[in-house]
Amino acid sequence: MVPRTDMDFETAIGLEVHVQLRTKSKAFSRSRCSFGEEPNRATDPVVLGLPGALPVLNGEAIRQIVRAGMLFDCTIAELCHWDRKNYFYPDSPKNYQITQQEKPICRGGAVEIELPGPARNVQGAHRKVRLNRIHLEEDVGKLSHGGSRSLVDFNRAGVPLAEIVSEPDLQGAEEVAAFLNAIRTYLSYAAISDCDMEKGQMRCDVNVSLKPKGDGPLGTRVEYKNLNSISGVRNAICHEIDRQSRILSAGGKISQETRRWDAKGNTSEGMRAKEMAHDYCYFPEPDIPPLRLSESELRPIRESLPERPFDRQRRFQESYGLPYTLTSVLCPSRPLADFFEAAAAGGADPKSVANLIANDLLREMALAGEEDFRIRPEELGELAKAIGAGRVPKQRAQDALAEAYRKRTGLSEFLENLPAPEDREDGAGQLKELCQRAIGACPKAVAEFRAGKSSAINAIKGFAMKESRGKVDPALLDKILRELL
Ligand code: ADP
Ligand code: MG
Repeated sequence: MVPRTDMDFETAIGLEVHVQLRTKSKAFSRSRCSFGEEPNRATDPVVLGLPGALPVLNGEAIRQIVRAGMLFDCTIAELCHWDRKNYFYPDSPKNYQITQQEKPICRGGAVEIELPGPARNVQGAHRKVRLNRIHLEEDVGKLSHGGSRSLVDFNRAGVPLAEIVSEPDLQGAEEVAAFLNAIRTYLSYAAISDCDMEKGQMRCDVNVSLKPKGDGPLGTRVEYKNLNSISGVRNAICHEIDRQSRILSAGGKISQETRRWDAKGNTSEGMRAKEMAHDYCYFPEPDIPPLRLSESELRPIRESLPERPFDRQRRFQESYGLPYTLTSVLCPSRPLADFFEAAAAGGADPKSVANLIANDLLREMALAGEEDFRIRPEELGELAKAIGAGRVPKQRAQDALAEAYRKRTGLSEFLENLPAPEDREDGAGQLKELCQRAIGACPKAVAEFRAGKSSAINAIKGFAMKESRGKVDPALLDKILRELL
């Protein structure tokens, strides 16, 4: 057999992303969702699985997961139900997890991602990654192991999670990072989830397989569970592609298994053969009735959705004429994109507004380590206008913006002290009138000038100068006179 190299394989990656939905209370009980609280305070009999306690569906969690499904163009099921996933582990006091196996609430759909690579900085190449489903399930408790003891904290148990399952469409670590970033941007835009990985609000299982290039079925996959940082995901994928291609190149076979990623050692170890659905003895959850959603319930949910971030980015390019690089700074953050639109609404040049935000305001915010804009968008718009009208040199405007940010003074005083635009416009109008009078008063000089004697213009200028008692700017006077003549 001819040995294969890395280049002979195609990678297929599918993700199961768990995101914590933004709700006040848990998926199936009134217990609060909180973070950083003393262990085992945010629980109740339902969460602890005490005898006789019955779960009740949280309407807000349903609303949020339906919104997620709509953002990603999923089909929302008319009828869905919940299942019990049975397993014994100390992180779950009930010995089962309530999830959706048979009839998830959202099916199909796709996540638009920005392709990695050099094309990104020019105009942004995008493509869609197909989703298989999104379903609503509950989180489990958190175990901490130390010395001879293990501790469990149920504060997180029962917190509503959306599990977003992709098709195996992703081809490498950078695409996976783009996929996770897109999910995070979309869900935080719509306030569905904060997707804060540091708080465990976004975690994923990564499935990787390799197959020889060309048509043919996907290879055997290996799963990594519960990765909780983008760098962890990236490293685990690169490692796994490398590991599988070595085995396959040597003529070996991949066994379908779950492996554990060791971030410190930058390596992995086999944990167990992959579990199958029948290992969990799924059956319909008898304590929660099936859910039927009507169009009249879905309509207001659909109307509550914001414009999608990538759609907004395209609109910023088309209607404001902004270059891709600026839109990709402004659009991923909803507050920033809103700030830009409010600033541009006053009629300033959009590109000048965008540059003040992207270069000056963001730099000051980064230096201060703050999310607060401190400057009102209308003022920033006025500043851009003042630059455009030549009332203030650009550099001075930028300095004023930085100073107003640092001193938290706002820009109104600075703007008030600039030469008023009205004066200038009126001035220009008056000057034009004066020139017209001078032209009327000097018919001979006008005729000579028009016949080609350029010095004849001096007589007309002299008249205007005398009329204004020497107050007009000679250069401006010359310009307007020549235009009129
Ligand atoms: P399970 O729930 O048992 O883990 P699923 O069939 O629901 O299995 O798939 C889970 C994830 O694994 C999905 O994201 C899917 O895209 C991905 N996946 C399935 N087969 C492959 C494969 N051969 N290579 C890579 N990813 C795969
Ligand atoms: Mg899985």
